[in-house]
Amino acid sequence: MKKIVVLTGAGISAESGIKTFRDSDGLWEEYRIEDVATFDAWLKNRNLVLDFYNQRRKQLLECSPNAAHYALAALEKKYDVQIITQNIDDLHEKAGSTKILHLHGELKKARSTVDDNLIYDIEGWELKKGERCEKGSQLRPHVVWFGEAVPNIVPASQLSSKADIYLVIGTSLNVYPAAGLLNYVPANVPKYLIDPNGVAVAGTRNLTIIKEKAGKGVTELVEKLLND
Ligand code: NAD
Repeated sequence: MKKIVVLTGAGISAESGIKTFRDSDGLWEEYRIEDVATFDAWLKNRNLVLDFYNQRRKQLLECSPNAAHYALAALEKKYDVQIITQNIDDLHEKAGSTKILHLHGELKKARSTVDDNLIYDIEGWELKKGERCEKGSQLRPHVVWFGEAVPNIVPASQLSSKADIYLVIGTSLNVYPAAGLLNYVPANVPKYLIDPNGVAVAGTRNLTIIKEKAGKGVTELVEKLLND
């Protein structure tokens, strides 16, 4: 079975009603990164950080996967499909994809602040001040904040180097180290990038750019791949 590795970003969830970061009506128009998505913010203004992620989680409960998430799940009929997502939502899981590596964490989980291995599911949408891990420390959102290490980048780069076909969907390729994953994909491997806007990918060989929204672009590409 051929291996398809798929790198997804906020754009794949845009048609499900989740705002991206960098589009003109994106989240960073409303919030400053340093106020809500850094460890420093967590130290200085815990309530604002908790509230920011609580609001995201509340919104996620009302969102469903779109045609692009479902198409990627359907691709498993013929291929060994590995998703690597920068997204913290759970829409790939909800659509039925089975192999998903989250690079930047998961919105519906909380993590101990003294032991990174203690990770808990969040029931409902709210993570509150005073909720503690079994070692007694405050729980934080299980997300990678700007400036923090990305532990899953190592398996992600290994997976990228083993792809037979590589798809990049809805990412501005602005956030490192995720943006560097394309460099691990062998030059001869066919690559497809689906994004309605221009994304800078100079020097990438065997790359087909599909300037479409994910819903249409991914559905059409998956149909082609299933018929190949
Ligand atoms: P980004 O906001 O930097 O880029 C989004 C990209 O999606 C842009 O290139 C844009 O042109 C494209 N896009 C917009 N609408 C689209 C559509 N309908 N179909 C396909 N593409 C579309 O997001 P990023 O590159 O993922 O990186 C920023 C960080 O944002 C990541 O770390 C990610 O964790 C985080 N984030 C996640 C979510 C989520 O979990 N859904 C939402 C917002 C941001």
